[in-house]
Amino acid sequence: MADDEKTDKSDKSGKKKIPKLANPMPQQDPKERIKNFDEVALGYDMETAIKEAERCLQCKREEGKEICIDGCPVEINIPAFIKCIKEGRIEDALSVIREKNNLPAICGRVCPQEQQCQKYCRLGKGKGRDPVSIGRLERFAADYDMKKQPTMSSTTEDLTKRPKKDKKIAIIGSGPAGLTAAGDLVKLGYDVTIFEALHDTGGVLRYGIPEFRLPKSIVDKEVDYVKRLGVKIETNVIVGKTIGMDELMDEYDAIFVGSGAGSPMFMDIPGENLNGIYSANEFLTRINLMKAYKFPEYDTPIKVGKVTAVIGGGNVAMDSSRCALRVGAEKSMIIYRRTEEEMPARKEEVEHAKEEGVELHILTNPVRYIGDERGNVRQIECIKMELGEPDASGRRSPVPIKGSEFLIDVDTVVVAIGNSPNPLIPNNTEGLKISKKGTIVVDDNGKTSIDKIYAGGDIATGAATVISAMGAGKKAARAIDNFLSS
Ligand code: FAD
Ligand code: SF4
Repeated sequence: MADDEKTDKSDKSGKKKIPKLANPMPQQDPKERIKNFDEVALGYDMETAIKEAERCLQCKREEGKEICIDGCPVEINIPAFIKCIKEGRIEDALSVIREKNNLPAICGRVCPQEQQCQKYCRLGKGKGRDPVSIGRLERFAADYDMKKQPTMSSTTEDLTKRPKKDKKIAIIGSGPAGLTAAGDLVKLGYDVTIFEALHDTGGVLRYGIPEFRLPKSIVDKEVDYVKRLGVKIETNVIVGKTIGMDELMDEYDAIFVGSGAGSPMFMDIPGENLNGIYSANEFLTRINLMKAYKFPEYDTPIKVGKVTAVIGGGNVAMDSSRCALRVGAEKSMIIYRRTEEEMPARKEEVEHAKEEGVELHILTNPVRYIGDERGNVRQIECIKMELGEPDASGRRSPVPIKGSEFLIDVDTVVVAIGNSPNPLIPNNTEGLKISKKGTIVVDDNGKTSIDKIYAGGDIATGAATVISAMGAGKKAARAIDNFLSS
């Protein structure tokens, strides 16, 4: 490609021309990476980060004209932090990000930027032009800081001098919603304790998203930052079992429920109880939280055999299919009832899965599972689909093609068709208003039908994104502060 084709001729400044394409992110070779759980995307170095930051137009927010900030659910001052990177002031860049986001190393890696800030980036408007790689720059700033302080995420604030408030707040769940609400409330001077059901922190960040997409050392450092702010965390406490909601209500001035959507859904088709059919939750929890990929060094095994089929087209399905290859499947396939276009997974994840050899069987849906005499799954009977009229989600609905049934041989099936909220807290809290889908009903500020109780993240919205859970945690923290101050 000629040099002028790579730069943007619409740059009117007459000075430096802006490259049309974003600087690529170095990544592990697909042939190598399917043999390990190391991170796939390797991150920008300083030189590349500055080059990418130089592409930014430093747009101003004006009435009626959208820019990157309008697409960020927590409203990070994106042009300001990119300017700092451009000038080599990386710590300042991180300070700007941290004003709004306690978990930048995580968001820089897993946020669907292409549907958020980068979708609104003015540089990306027009054919053949990439937006600024905002997520990669966010990740760069957070990683730079962590490399400098390998044991903990930095903070320049003097935390000991913060004025304390004589009020206690309980947070249920240590996922992104809970961690964010806790971080913001402790910064306001409250005494904050997180109760977490599992033996480790982070929610889906720990048990769901695999190491090769989000290294757990990053989650550790971000959790460490929240702890250093003064948040106490009690693991192995299941609220509703180990301790009752009523007890929390007596002891705490306010409660934030961030218990997520961890109950797996199934298709309810014949044969779903056969051995070798996992929910994506169990499959990923075994591999990520229980470290089955390091068996026998760790106690939990995972058995995949030669062929693994994953049902679904979201991030959870992509993660499962890529994990299957890494734990030894010779063939890993996605079975999805619509086309690749409609897949809810991030585009980058679908591309990474394809590069690694995951097969996509689109317009295909399972109708039953067939097992052997020992009750192990052996085949999936599938039916071909075609796209009909748009459904409630706005996507064209998949319609079965009569008589198109066929069989696929498998050793393992992972069902990744969605998750619903865990009913424990909704069912154990008298007076708490619950929607038909089992989510806790909240107002715009995260307030529930009970005065002292706030909720946010997947438990209130159903399965969504890390950044939306964080946004909900932030809003609720503000509302709890108003409630307790009034
Ligand atoms: P969670 O992260 O689910 O955390 C809830 C926590 O509450 C858990 O630790 C749970 O153990 C705890 N808990 C539950 N009940 C109780 C109780 N009774 N007592 C105490 N603790 C309790 N989003 C993205 O933006 N990008 C991605 O790339 C992406 N990939 C994903 C991949 C997978 C495999 C999955 C499953 C989800 C993915 N998501 C992704 C979605 C995202 O992770 C979630 O939307 C987000 O984690 C929700 O945050 P949360 O804090 O509401 O809940
Ligand atoms: Fe920079 Fe794009 Fe934001 Fe404009 S919209 S300030 S170019 S990141």
